[in-house]
Amino acid sequence: MTQGMPEHGTAFSVLKTEMIERGRGDVQWRDGKTAVYVFNAGEDVTEVQKQGYLLYLSENGLGPAAFPSLKKMEAEVVGMGLSLLHAPDGAVGHMTSGGTDSITMAVKAARDYARAQGQPEPFNLVLPYSAHPAFDKAAALMSIEIRRVATRPDYLADVRAMADQIDDSTLMMVGSAPSFPYGLIDPIAALGELAAARNVWLHVDACVGGYIAPFVEMNGVDLPPWDFRVSGVGSLSADLHKYGYCAKGASTIFYRSEALRDHMIFDQKDWPAGRMVTPTLAGTRPGGAISSAWAVMHYLGIEGYRKKQQSVTRARARIEAGVAELGFEVLGTPKLGIMAFSHPELDIFALYKRLFERGWVTSLVHPTESATLNAVTFS
Ligand SMILES: *Cc1c(COP(=O)(O)O)cnc(C)c1O
Repeated sequence: MTQGMPEHGTAFSVLKTEMIERGRGDVQWRDGKTAVYVFNAGEDVTEVQKQGYLLYLSENGLGPAAFPSLKKMEAEVVGMGLSLLHAPDGAVGHMTSGGTDSITMAVKAARDYARAQGQPEPFNLVLPYSAHPAFDKAAALMSIEIRRVATRPDYLADVRAMADQIDDSTLMMVGSAPSFPYGLIDPIAALGELAAARNVWLHVDACVGGYIAPFVEMNGVDLPPWDFRVSGVGSLSADLHKYGYCAKGASTIFYRSEALRDHMIFDQKDWPAGRMVTPTLAGTRPGGAISSAWAVMHYLGIEGYRKKQQSVTRARARIEAGVAELGFEVLGTPKLGIMAFSHPELDIFALYKRLFERGWVTSLVHPTESATLNAVTFS
């Protein structure tokens, strides 16, 4: 039965005690056993997130003229992202509420660009089976057909098979850097060549990789080209609230040029309260998400991120070595923070359950479509 609103108010001290109590049953992510949902960079960073958020808790990113402070902080966050991602002169970006928001806006921009080019509708979107469901959500919202293409045996996007799915109505192709299920970087260079040859918009989904991969490269690890260095890349999404270690509600979406970005912006002129221009999906935007991201990025700096990301890749390498010793097979060659492993015989559901009982929270993956596995999709 649902409860209505209480007749009388309660002192916050009482509420606070209850709220803390309610959290006791949640996963204990501070123990370092939670591989999803929380990107924990330590207590000091969490404190910067909080303090940075609180300073602009009440302010609204919807009003850049009213809050030039937020406008400037957002521009500086975007500038840091552009330089990390090797964006060319003229590239632009925006902060959004998260990866799904960034991806939705990129699909919207590509859709309006396709319309402006006179591409025939209904449109379609070609992406590897490993790409994030945020593309399906965006496509569902805009009535765009989704063409998911099976990955190669090495779990990477199959560029040739994707080429076969492209036609005159394809408004976007996607590659992940890395994919969420496997932590592997798709062949972005080959996708870029295909995109250029067929004149199709290429989006790189670096939601989970955009703020770790640059530092892993700086730490001396060779990665295949995955960002704006690949000339065919039109847009790229990168989440600050993942390996950027910023407070939740913070992502970035980047475009190679203003001309492409202009298709993202929603400009409503005819309304009693006057013209309303919103670059991203949200109207009201929490000022704290912007100020907190600005604070964390300046708190860590390149040096701080390089150290954090080094401990991430070291931990991944240790886990890889450990599971290999136990007879598991690591899928592909992960180089960032995410990895997946399989076993020729063991029941992964039983294993998952036992791990969960011991306080480990991970994802489950399945390389091919399967009814059984779909039934227990992890959410
Ligand atoms: C997390 C993630 C998304 C979606 O981001 P949200 O912030 O959860 O909306 C999209 N793509 C990839 C690869 C991701 O890891």
